[in-house]
Amino acid sequence: MLAGGVGGARFVRGVRAACAERWPARTDDATAPGSSSAGAATSADVTVIVNTGDDLWLAGVRLMPDFDSLLYALAGVNDAERGWGRAGETERVAAELREWGVGWPWFTLGDLDLGTHLARTAWLREGATPSQVAERLQRRWPLGVRLLPATDTEVDTHVRIDPSLPDAAGRDELHFQEWWTRYRAAIPALGFEQRNLAEARPAPGVVAAITGADVVLVAPSNPVVSIGTIVSVPGIREALAATGAPVVGVSPIIGGRVVRGMADACLTAIGVETDAAAVARHYGVRSAGGLLDGWLVDGTDAASVASLEEIGLVAASVPLWMRDLDTSAALAGAAIDLAARTR
Ligand code: GDP
Ligand code: CA
Repeated sequence: MLAGGVGGARFVRGVRAACAERWPARTDDATAPGSSSAGAATSADVTVIVNTGDDLWLAGVRLMPDFDSLLYALAGVNDAERGWGRAGETERVAAELREWGVGWPWFTLGDLDLGTHLARTAWLREGATPSQVAERLQRRWPLGVRLLPATDTEVDTHVRIDPSLPDAAGRDELHFQEWWTRYRAAIPALGFEQRNLAEARPAPGVVAAITGADVVLVAPSNPVVSIGTIVSVPGIREALAATGAPVVGVSPIIGGRVVRGMADACLTAIGVETDAAAVARHYGVRSAGGLLDGWLVDGTDAASVASLEEIGLVAASVPLWMRDLDTSAALAGAAIDLAARTR
């Protein structure tokens, strides 16, 4: 699976539940990953390739927001109401950092969350790679799936903006997190650029996971800065082109609107309409050098299924709103079923 943060986490939890239902852990499999997290034990081998474009250095620590969103959601320690961060979070350290003028005053680092960032940074300083750090962070909770950063190279996304705009203060680019969190994506983006992309390589295990998969799922995540970043790491698009597995995506757009967040600002910036079929055409059909074999749209967008099948996709409409674990699991099951139809 390829995934970003919020849409990614909901979908991945659904996939884990759908797999546990279809392929329950064997009883002799007591030590299988996930066997002790209630209801999530599966014999299916699920790897999530996680967007690293939102990562950044802040206040001396390395943040990996999408990875942590997935980690916390799968471990069940996330703040489900707020939609990000840890449950039961406090912000005492953030208040001190503000007093010291360290970090970004508009970007709050929770105390529990800072514990994760400190551990990660400590291991990085000791010489571990980001994917080795990711592996260590996952030992704490039985997740039932494996999270793998797309790359060990720091490919932090930057947003190009017009320096003459008042908020730009003369700057012609912002780190993605400043544009997204401070300005709520309201400054028109002229483009997105991931750092070090030319030298970036897929993290160990990424290419093997894709080429060895039975099914590849593209989560309903931000098509530009989440999925777009993952597939722009040299070697990942090639692995997706080469795999014998069907590649099935789920639309993050329902009825011409993003369900949560501001991904429409990213689509507009790259000239793609905020529309389920337009995102599928942007990803492209695998037989013509694109990413996808199959695409799921919401019932509201059922009228686009015929036109998607005309361009060579296997398409279907199902409910795409992930309101809770059941709706997420039903959606994941529909994606797995669509993959079977592409064969
Ligand atoms: P981020 O890293 O937190 O921005 O999260 P993602 O990269 O996973 O993408 C967020 C996008 O996921 C949103 O803009 C939505 O378009 C999409 N999304 C969120 N919730 C849902 C949902 O319930 N259903 C569908 N189909 N898409 C969703
Ligand atoms: Ca993200």
